[in-house]
Amino acid sequence: MKDELAIFGGKPVRAKEIPSHITTDDEEIKAVVEVMKKGRLSLFEGSYSPDPPFSFNGGPYVQRLEREWEKYYGVKHAIAVNSATSGLYAAMGAAGVGPGDEVIVSPYTMTASATCAIIYNAVPVFADIRDDLFCLDAQAVENAITPYTKAIVVIHLFGHPADMDPIMELAKKHDLYVIEDCAQVHGAHYKGRHVGTIGDIGVFSLNCNKTIQTGEGGIITTNDDELAERLRLIRNHGEAVVGHMGLADIANTFGWNYRMTEIEAAIGSVQLKKLKKFNKQRTELAAYLTKGISDIDFLIPPVVRENCDHVYYVYPLRYLEEVAGVPRNVFAAALNAEGVPFYEGYVKPLYLLPMYQQKTAYHGGCPFKCSNYKGNASYEKGLCPTAERLHYKEIMTTEMCRYPLTKADMDDVINAIHKVVDNMDVLKERRDNIKSSNIW
Ligand SMILES: *Cc1c(COP(=O)(O)O)cnc(C)c1O
Repeated sequence: MKDELAIFGGKPVRAKEIPSHITTDDEEIKAVVEVMKKGRLSLFEGSYSPDPPFSFNGGPYVQRLEREWEKYYGVKHAIAVNSATSGLYAAMGAAGVGPGDEVIVSPYTMTASATCAIIYNAVPVFADIRDDLFCLDAQAVENAITPYTKAIVVIHLFGHPADMDPIMELAKKHDLYVIEDCAQVHGAHYKGRHVGTIGDIGVFSLNCNKTIQTGEGGIITTNDDELAERLRLIRNHGEAVVGHMGLADIANTFGWNYRMTEIEAAIGSVQLKKLKKFNKQRTELAAYLTKGISDIDFLIPPVVRENCDHVYYVYPLRYLEEVAGVPRNVFAAALNAEGVPFYEGYVKPLYLLPMYQQKTAYHGGCPFKCSNYKGNASYEKGLCPTAERLHYKEIMTTEMCRYPLTKADMDDVINAIHKVVDNMDVLKERRDNIKSSNIW
């Protein structure tokens, strides 16, 4: 006899709580105490004539983390900031994005990947994604290019690199900046190169949910000296110092405080040393899970392309409803009842948010209705059919492939999936009684 599904009152496969994603231990505590004993919690100074130990470029822990990051990634400049959101804003500013410009971006991402354009009064133009990588489709990017396009924000979603080569080619041909949003892809490679060092600027997140973290924080990478200088100015009230520096082009260098504290930087240095270990764990857990469910024809495991790493910030599956015979929400609800959390989709395609639907970011409708803007970006439903199909019908995500979970936890995931699969006939019969859904 088959075990009764938990959603119909049976015993769940997993009753145990899922362990929290805590990536710190005594080493980080020691690093924080070291900073606290010195009592200098930040040593940034918003002026160009530094008054030691204060500095325009931050204190010793911030600068140490930056040098370590440069070494790890083999990149000329790493610039610490207080979030990846700040990093993306700074990247747009440094690239010279401004009113009237368009920035091409995937709609399937965290909001800041697109809001960074709006902050500089530029207009996000959403291009569709590929249904194997969930990242920008180069053909869709090409179709979205207009005379107003200034930059492309490439998101390496879920931990797998986007296909950079064709995008870099387009950027070269049309003289566009490429910003890599690397918030989910620490330590991954694309054709042997570190993701985050291929475009003009890379932006990493050190938010508490990411593979490595400092609570809040971010790192910007670039090999371009001029961009690096502009990024450092944007980080730290550039308007106060550009006069002394005699900078020729001062546009966009004003306004912000994106400075990281010494405590966060000290934590970051320890976390960076653990990145390989965390990625190894994620990769092993994901491979184990993929193998464990490979017999199920309606669950398509994540693609790992040759010569690329997937570092599984999130583990995404594609659910094929036509093959399964029941809608995704029914399957996900049954799985969740077994104690194994899976989400339907990831985030709503961004253009469906009220800001885009109502074309209102600033009062008066700027940047969409800004008098400098001559384009006509559309945010209609159906704009990116692949992103919408994946989100509303196919993608299921779980965060269970991460530290400190183990293969024993993966066995629960695999067993829960198989239990639900073995009961598909019951689910089909009783699906009308199931409503629960996690979709955004
Ligand atoms: C987390 C995330 C961000 C923002 O990172 P913060 O450091 O929280 O500002 C940006 N882009 C993507 C794809 C993310 O996952």
